[in-house]
Parts: sequence; structure tokens; C-alpha cells
Amino acid sequence: MVVRMRANRSKSGKRRSHHALSGMRMAACVCGALRRPHRACASCGTYRERVVVDVVARAERGVRRTKRKQKELRASGQAAENKEKEPQTQ
Ligand SMILES: [Zn+2]
Repeated sequence: MVVRMRANRSKSGKRRSHHALSGMRMAACVCGALRRPHRACASCGTYRERVVVDVVARAERGVRRTKRKQKELRASGQAAENKEKEPQTQ
């Protein structure tokens, strides 16, 4: 870029005056929790008052996955900081 083309502070400021992010819009779910519009509720798994996500099964799956990952890390010997915690858990 040539110096002639360089934007001055005023120009940059005017351009950036439209860059501000607005807050996330939230809607109240029937369960009382806040959820994003056009999305299923994260806490009860309903959309338009119908259950579309099995929240309990999801939570259980998450626990299973973290357990399996920790087990794999321990088996591979990569979890150096977890080795100190092992005697406490067992
Ligand atoms: Zn809900």
C-alpha cells in the first residue's frame, strides 16, 4: 500500500463504528430456563413444547465418554498429572 492510500484514524474509526457486537437474544423456555431462539432448550431438551432431545441420555453419554478418554490416556501413559490423583480415586 502506498502512503497516499493509508486510512487515517478518522476513517478507521468511522469504519469500526459498526463493528460492535450486540448481546445474544434469549427466549424463556417452558421449563423456565433461558434458551436461544430457534434452538432446542439445553436444560430440558424441548422445542416448541415437544421433547426432541433426550437430555438424561446425553448427560450419561458425556460421562461415559470422559471416563473412556481418561482410561485411554492412563493406558497410554500421557496423563502425567492424573497419575498423582490415581491413588486417591482407587
Ligand atoms: Zn427448557
